[in-house]
Amino acid sequence: MDYITITNLEVFAHHGVFPEENEKGQNFYVNAVLYLSTRNAGLTDELLESVHYGEVCELIHRHMREHTYKLLETAAEQVAAEILESFPLVERLRLEICKPHAPIALPFENVSVTIERGWQRAYVAFGSNLGERKAYIENALKKMEAHKDIRMRKISSFYETKPYGGVEQEDFLNGAVEMDTLLFPKELLAFLQELEKEAGRERKIHWGPRTLDLDILFYGDEKISEDNLTVPHPDMKNRDFVLEPMAEIAPYFIHPVYQLSMKEMLKSLSGREDRS
Ligand code: ATP
Ligand code: CA
Ligand code: CA
Repeated sequence: MDYITITNLEVFAHHGVFPEENEKGQNFYVNAVLYLSTRNAGLTDELLESVHYGEVCELIHRHMREHTYKLLETAAEQVAAEILESFPLVERLRLEICKPHAPIALPFENVSVTIERGWQRAYVAFGSNLGERKAYIENALKKMEAHKDIRMRKISSFYETKPYGGVEQEDFLNGAVEMDTLLFPKELLAFLQELEKEAGRERKIHWGPRTLDLDILFYGDEKISEDNLTVPHPDMKNRDFVLEPMAEIAPYFIHPVYQLSMKEMLKSLSGREDRS
């Protein structure tokens, strides 16, 4: 991928663990690599098709001076987030903050922290079968849209579906969304669980009735197997209420484990159902 590089931007700021550093200040140097496609800018010669590196430098400079962090890690995290939130064309970036005058009583040239951050494509399934189903879902979608580290890209139709898993209960409204997010998988899960809680979700019966259920289906093509998080979401190959909305919004997205597109997975599920 193409990139724009900023090297050794000098910023006089006050970050540091020691009170003296916060009072006196010192010079920091910032290196940034911004990954984006420069193709359109290259063909049109239009600045609006690219990222104005002068503005990125201003942002870094302002952010570093307006805040006083103890850690370079925090400075890097916060500056990276603000760049990614402010310049939509930047897909990911590498950011290094150097502190050559750090208070270390030994000869050294430089210390620095380098991080890489970027927008990740994620898919989330939604479902509700209790109370004002549509309102619960729409309310949650609105809150996702309002989150600064989530960019909603697509929302599927709402599908009226029969309950799954053998528990006698009302029909569901189901669907799926496509988003880009700066949240890490666990952070996204925590946010979704907050939304479930705000919808009054109570966990009583497994696969039982609920006001709102939000599951992470995919997070890029990552495979995650942890105690409270499995991605891709297991069992989706048996669930038309997941595959139908996914085939609507992302028909050619390839399941990173089965290596089949959503369209193909839906087709193979309907084939199986027709035979039974
Ligand atoms: P299913 O996951 O089979 O659809 P469910 O949605 O009814 O069942 P819940 O009671 O909502 O299950 O969630 C149980 C736990 O599943 C959650 O506390 C969460 O930690 C865990 N979990 C694991 N992987 C995921 C995922 N990809 N998305 C959401 N929750 C997950
Ligand atoms: Ca679920
Ligand atoms: Ca769930």
